[in-house]
Formats: sequence, structure tokens, C-alpha cells
Amino acid sequence: MKKFHVSASGNPEPCTATKRACPRGGEEAHFASQKDAATAAIQEQLRTTETRIAELDKEHKEVQTRVRIQEARVRFLEDGHSARELHERELFAESAPLELREHFYSDSPFNWDWSETFNASGATHALITAEHGQGRSAAKDAALHARLGHRGRQDGKPPLLDSVTRIARPDFVNDNEWQDSDERAVMATHLPNALARIEKEVAVGNTTAA
Ligand SMILES: [Zn+2]
Repeated sequence: MKKFHVSASGNPEPCTATKRACPRGGEEAHFASQKDAATAAIQEQLRTTETRIAELDKEHKEVQTRVRIQEARVRFLEDGHSARELHERELFAESAPLELREHFYSDSPFNWDWSETFNASGATHALITAEHGQGRSAAKDAALHARLGHRGRQDGKPPLLDSVTRIARPDFVNDNEWQDSDERAVMATHLPNALARIEKEVAVGNTTAA
């Protein structure tokens, strides 16, 4: 019976391999009709294109993040901070997760102890918007509420700001203590995607450094 496969250049064609194994593959790469082979070829092209789009999308987001960091550094100086202060923030930002770095170049609207070099309020708000979108939802309201919280509040959970501050720290390690912490639990509830992204980035960084 005549069989068809997809050529190396992506076109359906009749298979001529009779004595030896076909270089295009085994049974899974062969089809009963030219039409089936053409369908498989298009589906393969579609998968390749989708993979490429995902890669470009990731690259685009990274470039956008770097632009935002550069813009934040310019604003930081324009806001009257000195070059020495900029350098100090740069040292902290360099070892923080990429998507949190821009928040080292702005001042927190709150004068809390953890707001000296990192704008945890701005960073947390940006993560909440990235996670839950611009509109309103119950999950977003809950996240916004958890953002500010306070240490003495009824459920005993620390504010989401503490979680974000902790993972932004240059000495952050994803160890057992972090895994069991209330800060991580709060973040897992309200920002599960950001938590997964940042823990993955930190893990990759640790592997590279080892
Ligand atoms: Zn073949």
C-alpha cells in the first residue's frame, strides 16, 4: 500500500522507502493519504509557530521589564536622589528577581522599616495587577486587602507586603524555612503565579551559581 510522509522541507510526499527504513520516521510519521500527510504537516507548522510566539512573548516581556527598570532609574534621579543613592539601590536590585528590580528605584508611600530601599507597596500592587488584571474581582479585592493587612490582624497572617519584601531581598533563599513560612502561605493564596515564577527564577539562579 502506498504511504505518505512529510518531507524535511515540510511538504507531504509519497514515501519511496521500501528496502530500508524511511529517514522520516516509523509508522507514526506515515499516512494513508496525501491529505492526511498534508494535515500533519500543517499541524506541525502550527506547533512550531506557537512555540516561537511563546518564545517571542517571553523575550518581549523581559525587554519591557528592562525598559521599566531603566525608566525607574531615570525617575529616581529626577526625583532628587543622588548618584550614590542610585548605586546603593543598584547593588540591592542586581540580585533581586528581575520583575521586582524596578521597585528598588522608587520610595514607598509608607514610612515603614522595610521601605528603606525597596518599594514593597509598589511592587506588591504591580504583582497583584499582573496576577488579577485591571478590573475588579473577588480574588483581586482579597489580594489588595492582604497587601496592607497588619501584623496584629485577626487571622494572624502577615501582610502580603512582607512576603514580597522577603523574596526581593538579596539574601533570599528558597529553603525549608521559607517553604513553611506564613509569608509564603499568604503569597501562595493571593499571588500563586508570581510565587511560582519567582521561585523558579531563584532556583535557576542558584543552580547557575553552584
Ligand atoms: Zn517515508
